[in-house]
Amino acid sequence: MSQPLVSLTGVSKSFGEVDAVVDLNLQVNAGEFFSMLGPSGSGKTTVLRLIAGFETVSAGKITIADSDVTELAPFDRPVNTVFQDYALFPHMSIQENVEYGLRTRKVPKATRAKQAAEAIDSVKLAHVATRLPHQLSGGQRQRIALARALVLRPKVLLLDEPLGALDKQLREEMQVELKKIQREAGITFIFVTHDQEEAMRMSDRIAVFNEGRVEQIGTPEQVYEAPKTKFVASFLGVSNLFSAQIAQQLFGSSKMVNIRPEKIRLLPIGSKITADEVGVSGEIIEAAYVGANTIFSINTESGMRLSVTRSNQELPDQINRFKSGDRVLAVWLKSQIATIPN
Ligand code: ATP
Repeated sequence: MSQPLVSLTGVSKSFGEVDAVVDLNLQVNAGEFFSMLGPSGSGKTTVLRLIAGFETVSAGKITIADSDVTELAPFDRPVNTVFQDYALFPHMSIQENVEYGLRTRKVPKATRAKQAAEAIDSVKLAHVATRLPHQLSGGQRQRIALARALVLRPKVLLLDEPLGALDKQLREEMQVELKKIQREAGITFIFVTHDQEEAMRMSDRIAVFNEGRVEQIGTPEQVYEAPKTKFVASFLGVSNLFSAQIAQQLFGSSKMVNIRPEKIRLLPIGSKITADEVGVSGEIIEAAYVGANTIFSINTESGMRLSVTRSNQELPDQINRFKSGDRVLAVWLKSQIATIPN
């Protein structure tokens, strides 16, 4: 897991005036599920296309398995790409679609039939192998697109928002499937998404992109619990950010700090707190029941808006006694505050 398979060193890419990727350094390890996460236009797809060889770098170097591939054509790189729109051939059966890449590589007929059947089996679709693409559901087409890439046994599979076209429920099912297939095949996945929950759910590590730069690379837990920048803190989940000035007054911190909504408790105004805790008083302006949780919005006396999430599994009297208009003490442990270094 710890051996770098794909390395980008000082990679930049400009399209005319637009600096799509700026001085990027990142390493993806063998067998890793690595996600590139960021808002639209932040450069994720461009990085994927640079690794695939569909774009050439303006500066920098890309290596895969210790070979410099910076100048190589796409088909000379040990990678395959799965696109959001599947790109299946409509007039070919599922079996033929999956065999296609092997055919262009001149793999003998019997071998390619066997390997394609195995790949189709690995995505649990043997029963539809003779159908045409339009006779499959969106999720099935997505799995076939995956089988078609897996059959070529690439060292690295590049996936550009492959679940973007699926509805929520199917998307969640496919997230679990995709992760399972990746683990079983042992192939390195580099996965582009703008959906933070999807990235956190599937990835070993996540690179968070903003305006052509990577702001942080880490495990889902690291980027959520210890964001290095304000952008990362607010892009992943809900954040309660205190400016350095307010943080100085409240906690004696000289840096901006963040506290996540689920780490804040609500107590009646005037409650005693311990030396390990911070308490801020304010008024509840909204209490929204959202099934598993209740989300409180609180106007603090310093003028800041706090978001607080409490599980509805807690004792009902802890939750239900607070409603909109109540004045409360929002309390959290000092140890749960994350300092934002940059
Ligand atoms: P999305 O999630 O919307 O796909 P992204 O993070 O993948 O966004 P990119 O597609 O990599 O972002 O685009 C990064 C920047 O580069 C954007 O400003 C985009 O407009 C620009 N860009 C990408 N491809 C080209 C191109 N072929 N010509 C000109 N500009 C481009």
